[in-house]
Amino acid sequence: MSEAAKVVSVEAIPLKIPFTHGGPSVSWAGSDWQALEIVLVRLQTDSGLVGWGEAFSYNCRRAVVAMIEDSAANVLVDKLVSERAQIMHELQVGMHLWGRYGISMFAISGIDIALWDLTAKAADRSLGQMLGGNKKILPAYASLLKYRDPEVVAEQTADAIANGYGLIKLHESTVEPVKAARDVAGSEVPIMLDVNCAWSISEARQIMQQLVDCNLYWLEEPVWPPENFSALSTLRAEYGIPIASGENVCTHWQFESMFDANAVDVAQPSVTKVGGVTEFLEVEKAARERKITVAPHSPYFGPGFLATAQLISAMDEDVPFERFYMAPEASLFGTAIDPVDGELLVPQGPGLGLDPDPDVILEYRVHD
Ligand SMILES: [Mg+2]
Repeated sequence: MSEAAKVVSVEAIPLKIPFTHGGPSVSWAGSDWQALEIVLVRLQTDSGLVGWGEAFSYNCRRAVVAMIEDSAANVLVDKLVSERAQIMHELQVGMHLWGRYGISMFAISGIDIALWDLTAKAADRSLGQMLGGNKKILPAYASLLKYRDPEVVAEQTADAIANGYGLIKLHESTVEPVKAARDVAGSEVPIMLDVNCAWSISEARQIMQQLVDCNLYWLEEPVWPPENFSALSTLRAEYGIPIASGENVCTHWQFESMFDANAVDVAQPSVTKVGGVTEFLEVEKAARERKITVAPHSPYFGPGFLATAQLISAMDEDVPFERFYMAPEASLFGTAIDPVDGELLVPQGPGLGLDPDPDVILEYRVHD
């Protein structure tokens, strides 16, 4: 692809892939969560090259598709791929009135990932290589779902350890499941706890007091709302438990506000939500300047998964990769993205490393 390649088509492709996991049903937004909704962004250039992105779309795929097709596509068509930075600026300015976080930024994130895929493909290098990276193997952590029942949490923790994972993340909001996981994991396995903003500040104080001796590797999004950075800062100082946050923080601007509030030890940009690779790199730069660890949020299985792996491969630090501990019925990338013994091989092909399987797209595409 020459630098003069233009975008000639923009397509948002919604998929719905059922998954299983080892626990009882998972409730989300009033219903059982049983399928991964993935919106792929497919950009084609006049030179025939295809770039792929992923916009976060769990439980909101129709809205994300509409945002890409109705509000972003017209900006993209006929633009040069090499003008990626200008395109992203234009999209962010043009779409900001629909919110600087949420559906509009999910759409922009998917587009940005696809533009970076095209850029790296044009250079015939993987994104990680293009960013100066050389890590080929990443440690992965098992990101368990929310089971609530301490027995199930203990079973799933043991299962993940038996499958080779050396780090475990729980999604729980009470003390007992955490203690059950710690008991079965022993004292050596790092355990992270993700509360998904379930606690008030007073609840956080009450529960964190009881968690001090669980030796948490990090405590993620303990309080509501996620943008209450001063509460995070206060709790961080009171209990000495490392605080992580960032999946609901958008663009490097808000990350910098969070950093300036001394709110976190670990920053968690989510490449399919934060504004794509472009914003992710800005967040990483801001974090590095302040010596804050970056550990990306990545509980997804499309091109965003690959983009995250490529980005981590270009980081100097040992950063664990978040692997959602579930079994999707089909994989867009075959077994190439399955961690083995808790380690993920970074795909080395041009762009994001791999292209999605057209047969899987055909079978799981939804048209409603
Ligand atoms: Mg989280």
